[in-house]
Amino acid sequence: MLRILFLIGFVFNIGCAQSDYDKKRGVMVTNQLITRGITDPATLDAMRKIPRERFVPENVKQYAYQDNPLPIGHGQTISQPYIVAFMTQELKLNPNDKVLEIGTGSGYQAAVLAEIVKTVYTIEIVKELGISAKKTLKELGYDNVTVRIGDGYHGWKEHEPFDAIIVTAGIENIPQPLLDQLADGGRMIIPVGPSNRRNLVLVTKKNGKIKMKKVLPVRFVPFVRDKKGDQE
Ligand code: SAH
Repeated sequence: MLRILFLIGFVFNIGCAQSDYDKKRGVMVTNQLITRGITDPATLDAMRKIPRERFVPENVKQYAYQDNPLPIGHGQTISQPYIVAFMTQELKLNPNDKVLEIGTGSGYQAAVLAEIVKTVYTIEIVKELGISAKKTLKELGYDNVTVRIGDGYHGWKEHEPFDAIIVTAGIENIPQPLLDQLADGGRMIIPVGPSNRRNLVLVTKKNGKIKMKKVLPVRFVPFVRDKKGDQE
């Protein structure tokens, strides 16, 4: 009898916690995204669906839907929901697109992309984060995302050209390999500039010509270089 009561309590508790997250997720989409001008239906649908709490460490799960970045270990952060939405919307994605992300981190941004496009390639330089993101994405059924551990500076030559590229770590200058691997007609969003004055820059390529536009001042964890080269 006691065991049955315990079981009911357990299931009920889990149920409550889950519906609580679902509610917070809906409120986040309305209050943080829609009111700030995110209108792309695919971006909003993806963020309404993805359990962000699954991408953060246990001790910060309760803050998963707050209007700020959160620590994910190794000195890294999962971006603020609005920034994820803004960057995704700027890419003007199509269902058949192949997208490259540099800076997998928790894997949350990769999941948002994976909800919208056909194929996502993502590179993370911190091995532990890459492994953990791979596991989370697999558990949630995102079989259209491939995670690689290594320095994303060089992009991913085997899979170029990419219809869209998203860089989620701040860098002084745009890496040339990423410009080269962007498809004609493609779009890239990247935080660029000195560490205290970075802007999200939207890069477009048309008939081989590159155009750049600053779209939003931002703060991002720094892009780091692996002196030893790729680890795979
Ligand atoms: N997109 C992530 C946010 C990650 S923060 C998310 O949704 O959670 C930026 C990430 O970029 C960090 O995990 C950091 O380790 C990684 N990073 C920094 N420099 C990198 C590089 N040269 N190549 C690949 N990843 C890099």
